[in-house]
Amino acid sequence: MSSTWHILGAGSLGSLWACRLARAGTAVRLVLRDGQRLRSYQLAGGLTLAEQDQTRCYAIPGETADAAGPIHRLLVACKAYDAASAVASVAARLAPGADVVLLQNGLGSQDEVAEQVPHARCISASSTEGAFREKDWQVRFAGQGFNWLGDPGNPMPATWFEDVQRAGIPAEWTPDILPRLWRKLALNCAINPLTVLYGCNNGGLLGHLEEVDALCTELQQLLHRCGQPQAALGLGEDVQRVILATAANYSSMYQDVQAGRRTEVHYLLGHACRAASRHGLALPLLEHLQQRLVDNLRARGLPCN
Ligand code: NAP
Repeated sequence: MSSTWHILGAGSLGSLWACRLARAGTAVRLVLRDGQRLRSYQLAGGLTLAEQDQTRCYAIPGETADAAGPIHRLLVACKAYDAASAVASVAARLAPGADVVLLQNGLGSQDEVAEQVPHARCISASSTEGAFREKDWQVRFAGQGFNWLGDPGNPMPATWFEDVQRAGIPAEWTPDILPRLWRKLALNCAINPLTVLYGCNNGGLLGHLEEVDALCTELQQLLHRCGQPQAALGLGEDVQRVILATAANYSSMYQDVQAGRRTEVHYLLGHACRAASRHGLALPLLEHLQQRLVDNLRARGLPCN
């Protein structure tokens, strides 16, 4: 079986993973959106990773989805709303028993991908690392963090997990990836939409702590109803800790909105509201928050899905 990693999506996180794997001598190939993006990448001569005051270019081979050859190990690094269609474009190349690692924030896209590739093992990741694109094909590693990887259907670590550790990517295999994804989603729901609505950094929410706290109470009800009591434990305190620790930062949703980019709201607050309604659980504050956010995005001419 080939040990090459195919990285689908050479944006911020995909480039960060690709460069670190390549630096450790692991075989990596980038799967780019189309021929035009591939030509642009080839002209650039590789992916550049900037880390503190060091910048290095990695001449990682690129291809498009319709290239020949089977894929055994696929890292999906698109936004949640692009993941399923991007994976569909390479589904025919996935070898039986291939592993697909999903870096998407939120919940819902993992199931959409799994539907496209029933013959693959889907592994979810929850990442607290931070990276952004300085320009096309150049990414800055902006925030140290950690990655948890796991397969909700199978606690056994993947055979290639050592590749990740050898590449210096801080990561742990966990049999409890779903509680981690739910917890991160709940934190996101309590913080990110309000930063958009109040037009503030995370610290700006210190002036709205009653509202944040009331949202956390509803989110805890939801987590319990969804069979995630572990993710509900001490949520309010954790949210306040995050707000204080990241007071000067702007949330990813705030940054997306400011830059006129589509947000991942469908897989964050949207997923929470859909789960509540599926369980027949009335969460008026969360529903009202979603309505306010949708109105806000519409007024800016941004998609609300
Ligand atoms: P990003 O910088 O926007 O990168 C997404 C990449 O996917 C882009 O390069 C895009 O291609 C590519 N793409 C989209 N559709 C494609 C397709 N059909 N085929 C091939 N490539 C395709 O996004 P990101 O910030 O890395 O985020 C990826 C995921 O990681 C998100 O769910 C995000 O929430 C999560 N995450 C990100 C960070 C972070 O610090 N960035 C941290 C934690 C979690 P083009 O370049 O052609 O547009």
